[in-house]
Amino acid sequence: MTLKKTKEEIKLLREGGKRHFAVMLQLKEAVKAGVSTQEIDSLAEKLIRKGGDEPSILNYQPFGATYPFPASVCISINEEIVHGIPGERIIREGDIVGLDFCLTHKGLVTDGATTFAVGQIDSKVKKLIEITQEAICAGIQVARAGNKLGDIGHAIELCAQPYKYGVVRGLGGHGVGHAVHEMPFVQNFGRPHTGMLLSQGMVLALEPMFTLGSPKIKMQKNGYTYVSSDHSLSAHFEHTIAITKGEPLILTAK
Ligand code: MG
Repeated sequence: MTLKKTKEEIKLLREGGKRHFAVMLQLKEAVKAGVSTQEIDSLAEKLIRKGGDEPSILNYQPFGATYPFPASVCISINEEIVHGIPGERIIREGDIVGLDFCLTHKGLVTDGATTFAVGQIDSKVKKLIEITQEAICAGIQVARAGNKLGDIGHAIELCAQPYKYGVVRGLGGHGVGHAVHEMPFVQNFGRPHTGMLLSQGMVLALEPMFTLGSPKIKMQKNGYTYVSSDHSLSAHFEHTIAITKGEPLILTAK
């Protein structure tokens, strides 16, 4: 497994990313108060397979997990940061919902996530979502050949600072493409000009996660879902990008 992807692979990842984006839009539309997370998961699997692709996280067993992930999409609600498992839970008015999934197109994996509100939410929570989305843009801006991993983390972290958001520790972005998780690990904080040098052809999933409170995480009993240790609300955005000499190519986009 090489860190860099070939031009041909990036072309396939871009096509997969377009499909990923289209599925995400349809899932977002389906998320409504009264709908179960299981229903959203069934729809995710159906939409991904309809395009001839695979839901990469279904039955995927990450290192350290005691059983394979049982769904095609992670649905993380409110204080759940990532890896929420779909089930009988009913989505309610006022929830903030994170959708996160991977799609394998012709053997290549894209990863992306978004967070949004169902119905009316507090302006403080709206701001958290808005700033987390700004943070992914800030990370993407500096993710280019010649810069270093620490530049990405630093740019992301800077967005959270004025609002005193918790910048989640212990979870972060990663390489992706040949597999769901590849090297390197991309922290959402860091010092500029430190860490691994970024070079053209690297494909990374950037994924800032901020909370309204603690940066610390706690694993739920199911062995997958992480919540904020103080149960404060959290937001998460993710895109798969390919590093170039200029602005990166956002693969999981229209
Ligand atoms: Mg993801």
